Amino acid sequence: MTDSKIENEAPDPQEQIRASVRSLCAKFPGEYWRRLDRERGYPTEFVDALTEAGFLGALIPEEYGGSGLTLIEAAVILEEIHACGGNGAACHAQMYTMGTLLRHGSAAQKARWLPEIAAGELRLQAFGVTEPTSGSDMLNLTTTAVREGDHYVINGQKIWTSRAEHSDLMLLIARTTRREDATKRTDGLSVFLVDLQLAQGTTININPIRTMMNHATTEVFFKDLRVPADNLIGEEGHGFRYILSGLNAERILIAAECIGDAKWFIAKASAYAKEREVFDRPIGQNQGVQFPIARAYAQMRAAELMVREAAQRYQSGGDCGTEANLAKLLAADASWAAAEMCVQTHGGFGFAEEFDIERKFRETRLYQVAPVSTNLILAYLAEHVLGLPRSY
Ligand SMILES: Cc1cc2nc3c(=O)[nH]c(=O)nc-3n(C[C@H](O)[C@H](O)[C@H](O)COP(=O)(O)OP(=O)(O)OC[C@H]3O[C@@H](n4cnc5c(N)ncnc54)[C@H](O)[C@@H]3O)c2cc1C
Repeated sequence: MTDSKIENEAPDPQEQIRASVRSLCAKFPGEYWRRLDRERGYPTEFVDALTEAGFLGALIPEEYGGSGLTLIEAAVILEEIHACGGNGAACHAQMYTMGTLLRHGSAAQKARWLPEIAAGELRLQAFGVTEPTSGSDMLNLTTTAVREGDHYVINGQKIWTSRAEHSDLMLLIARTTRREDATKRTDGLSVFLVDLQLAQGTTININPIRTMMNHATTEVFFKDLRVPADNLIGEEGHGFRYILSGLNAERILIAAECIGDAKWFIAKASAYAKEREVFDRPIGQNQGVQFPIARAYAQMRAAELMVREAAQRYQSGGDCGTEANLAKLLAADASWAAAEMCVQTHGGFGFAEEFDIERKFRETRLYQVAPVSTNLILAYLAEHVLGLPRSY
């Protein structure tokens, strides 16, 4: 390649995004994440920096003040945060809830909410789906929304609603028709944009749940919460269809985070295996040490291809349920395998807090369970792709 060819080549936009995420993340090194992990603190400064740089408004169209990027670039942003040793879980919901608002919200709702979200004045960071008694059987949720004049009155409970204490708005799914009265299993649910700050401590109560990693997750109680009917997204009773695209976006974006985690573990293990000498030679000279690193790399690359395919399919507007599930399954397995390999490569130091490995190990373990557990993905593939009898 000649020098003039290099000069004429347009810079790769994805590479530019990666480079700017990397330079932002460099200001938030391991010590920062370790301190928050110890205190179970929320990374406010990191989220503010991401917002200011426009990354959290990535999916918001430019006409509303956002960056007008696609899910493909959103996945690149989150992957890179994780590859740098950080954690996008503090703020990723703003990206995956966006599709529901963009695709199904009215022009008035978009004009009302999006400019403030893009400017960082409002945070849409909470997604209220899971309930204590329904769990993976989402359609069995029991939180109700009953129309009274120009309001809906909401009663019930959500659990594992992450970032509810650090968000102004929540995308909430509730039952507007009793399950037994709905014509189809998927009917009778509706989606609302709920103002969390307005009713905090009165008709909304939020309790933090301390978990094995730092995740700012909570349980949320609604007691006669009045939500303006204007905050209903789309038509009443069709909410499940509206959040499906959000659930797919969530799976793809979290799969991208898993790829970032896997890259981080692989880079960390490779560097250590080259430098650590035992029996007068680098441990990475032993096949017993280098092969697991090479295998983790191969597994990550294969999963990465699936994540890209899923993001492209989502972006083209086609049905991407299968690809989103495959991406989530393979990427979560790749990050977990890489985590295990990284601890083993480091021997005792894999357990030392200052190496960040045990923190990332705990963080990436979540993705075998949330936002959808491995078994439920396998059940989906068995039924919807392979035509096997429904098992649940
Ligand atoms: C830290 C954290 C953050 C979260 N954040 C959010 C959030 O922001 N918003 C939100 O709505 N939810 C959130 N969740 C909830 C998450 O999506 C659920 O935990 C997940 O979907 C699994 O549901 P469950 O915990 O009720 O498990 P259950 O449904 O009770 O399942 C328990 C186990 O049984 C298995 N199982 C259940 N049924 C079957 C079956 N038919 N066949 C085979 N295996 C089965 C599951 O795979 C799982 O391993 C979060 C969870 C955690 C832990």
